[in-house]
Amino acid sequence: MVVKGLKKYFPNRKGFFYKIANYNKAVNGIDFFIKKGETVGLVGESGSGKTTVGRCIVRLYEPTEGSVEFNIDGNMIDLPKVPKKGMKTIRKHFQMLFQDVYSSLNSRMKIADIVTEPMAIHDVGNKKERIDRAKELLERVGLSADDISKYPHQFSGGQRQRIGITRALSIKPDFIICDEPVSALDVSVQAQILNLLLDLQDEFQLSYLFIAHDLGVVKYISDRVIVMYLGKIFEIAYSKDIYENPRHPYTEALLAAISKYKAGSTRDILLKGSIPDPSNPPSGCVLHPRCNYAKDICKEVLPVLEPIPGVSEAFAACHRYKELNLKSYKR
Ligand code: SF4
Repeated sequence: MVVKGLKKYFPNRKGFFYKIANYNKAVNGIDFFIKKGETVGLVGESGSGKTTVGRCIVRLYEPTEGSVEFNIDGNMIDLPKVPKKGMKTIRKHFQMLFQDVYSSLNSRMKIADIVTEPMAIHDVGNKKERIDRAKELLERVGLSADDISKYPHQFSGGQRQRIGITRALSIKPDFIICDEPVSALDVSVQAQILNLLLDLQDEFQLSYLFIAHDLGVVKYISDRVIVMYLGKIFEIAYSKDIYENPRHPYTEALLAAISKYKAGSTRDILLKGSIPDPSNPPSGCVLHPRCNYAKDICKEVLPVLEPIPGVSEAFAACHRYKELNLKSYKR
């Protein structure tokens, strides 16, 4: 998948006539790619735009601008340009896993209906074949074939996420957008679900875009990591480079939040204040009001995402990344 110049602006309406006052620039011109079979972590605080990116890819939101090219059976298809009625065929290549899996599973439907519904929509097999595949997949994700006759409320949070995974796999997708699928689960259950996703990736040659609000969860699962803030990409690199040698001050701050430094030593790393209003982003580098390394140039000039010399497939958007000696992740 190749994403180019992706933007999603939401209008803010005000007044008696409900006129557009300005736009929430949730995603503000981003470029990245995901290789087949790869897991890319997409990380940023709440309000960074990461969930909007996932939703634009599957067209739960229509992008304002930009392209999302995906290889389907040897042809590069630009997803935002596919007419709405053509999206049904395309959608079977993409699935989503949600954080709030309970609300994404219809509580009045049996697991049999929940898991076979996507297959019925995409005309996969007959009823018996769909039930057989559902049972087989339930067992594959660590549940029982007998669970098919139960309802979502009869399962724990981790088991419900396994049902969500079963439903996603039922139509043999190529790509799954995992939108914080383990954030609401206990740490031990998180590890089990992440292990399951990794096993399934090998078995079904899946690509994942794994969205998370901190760098803790994606460390375990990602080949590469994209760090986002206020609708912009600040850094992209292989996981090892992100955790051992961050180039962007925002990445350093996210790492500090999950690192075990000595007491008091993170004071200079943590960001000041909270994420600004995306409808009125700061001038220059959008991080400058919160960045401990900001200089005059940062207030005026927007840094572009540029390749980091000598580091494979790594990019950073910071005026000072070459001179800063940032702290890495500490266990
Ligand atoms: Fe901080 Fe300036 Fe780099 Fe932005 S460009 S992250 S404000 S040092």
